[in-house]
Amino acid sequence: MARPLPLTPSNHDRDYAGFTYVYPVVSRRAGGISVGINLNPNNACNWACVYCQVPNLVRGTAPDIDLALLESELRAMLSDILDGDFMQTRVPEGARRLNDIALSGNGEPTSARVFPRVIALIAQVMADFGLLGEMKLVLITNGSLADRHYVRDGLKQMAKLNGEVWFKLDSATAAGMRTINQTRIPPEKHYARLAIAAELCPTWLQTCVFAMDGVPPSEEEQQAYLTLVRRIKSDGIPLKGVLLYGLARPSMQPQAPRLSALPSAWLEAYADRIRDAGLEVKVSP
Ligand code: SF4
Repeated sequence: MARPLPLTPSNHDRDYAGFTYVYPVVSRRAGGISVGINLNPNNACNWACVYCQVPNLVRGTAPDIDLALLESELRAMLSDILDGDFMQTRVPEGARRLNDIALSGNGEPTSARVFPRVIALIAQVMADFGLLGEMKLVLITNGSLADRHYVRDGLKQMAKLNGEVWFKLDSATAAGMRTINQTRIPPEKHYARLAIAAELCPTWLQTCVFAMDGVPPSEEEQQAYLTLVRRIKSDGIPLKGVLLYGLARPSMQPQAPRLSALPSAWLEAYADRIRDAGLEVKVSP
């Protein structure tokens, strides 16, 4: 069923066997194989981050989801991984471990109105494969819809499934969010949504840092972020920590030529400042 394509940490195969929603990823972040679920096969997101790796990104929301097709693809993929020859034929030695199922697609997954039904479907499939409690269910989200009722419903279900939310927050300033994420959401509103997500399900902040036109984030930007971290602590928001990323893969957006990766020493120094402000940090240059 699989295309004869050896997966590597940089080879995300979103067209696995012609599937619409489900794809395998060997993830250097996760240190093993992740089953990705893409609820945005239309490449539509309500944000337009300058570093976004989605080709032909458009503004919009997820299309109607064919839940029966999603379920059959997920079952087929898990069968191939757990009972077939997927690991031996397509995954390099040392990464032959099923780490998680990740809602991480070509757009914002929580823009799918059936999001809670998708979580319920995943829960059923995980139970049928004996995977409950054995692996994580990760939601990679920009968090912009975390206050919607249907998203909260999905997050509550995720918490019972060893779920984790990776909530995007690249900048704590309105100007930074406009420049990096191309959204006009006020930072206060984003903070409130972060608090909601973290109350409902274990949550990490997901922050990408890079240089733009050769210039790293300004001291003012960094201070605003560190102030936010201290506020998270003083408000008692139960965050697990910060996933701090550099530019792991090239941007597919028009701004790509303006972006460059920061030296890993820069990221490490920034991580230390975040730790001093009170949160655990995992760095992925
Ligand atoms: S939120 Fe994610 S999918 Fe949407 S534009 Fe940003 S990086 Fe791309």
